[in-house]
Amino acid sequence: MIKAEKKYLSRVANLGCIICTRLGYAGTPSEIHHVRGLGLGMGVRSSHYDTLPLCPEHHRGNTGYHGMGRKAFERQYEITEQQLLEQVKEMLDDEEIESS
Ligand SMILES: [Zn+2]
Ligand SMILES: [Zn+2]
Repeated sequence: MIKAEKKYLSRVANLGCIICTRLGYAGTPSEIHHVRGLGLGMGVRSSHYDTLPLCPEHHRGNTGYHGMGRKAFERQYEITEQQLLEQVKEMLDDEEIESS
């Protein structure tokens, strides 16, 4: 992994769990979830830039992405993985504006 990617991933993780944030609990310590393929169905490898911050529960727990599977997860939180990804990118953009 190159330096820029590592830096990006730590910024994503620092946002806190994206689902907790939606539920009104900002800043939950999170792990990195890699978004795969984005429905292109062609075995497109996930990039380190297509990542979401998820807390251990929302990542691997019973109410999490890998616990429920993508479809159930998206239904549960009423948002698609793709939309979450867009939200993360917006949050990082805002951060850049604030700190400059
Ligand atoms: Zn969470
Ligand atoms: Zn994951």
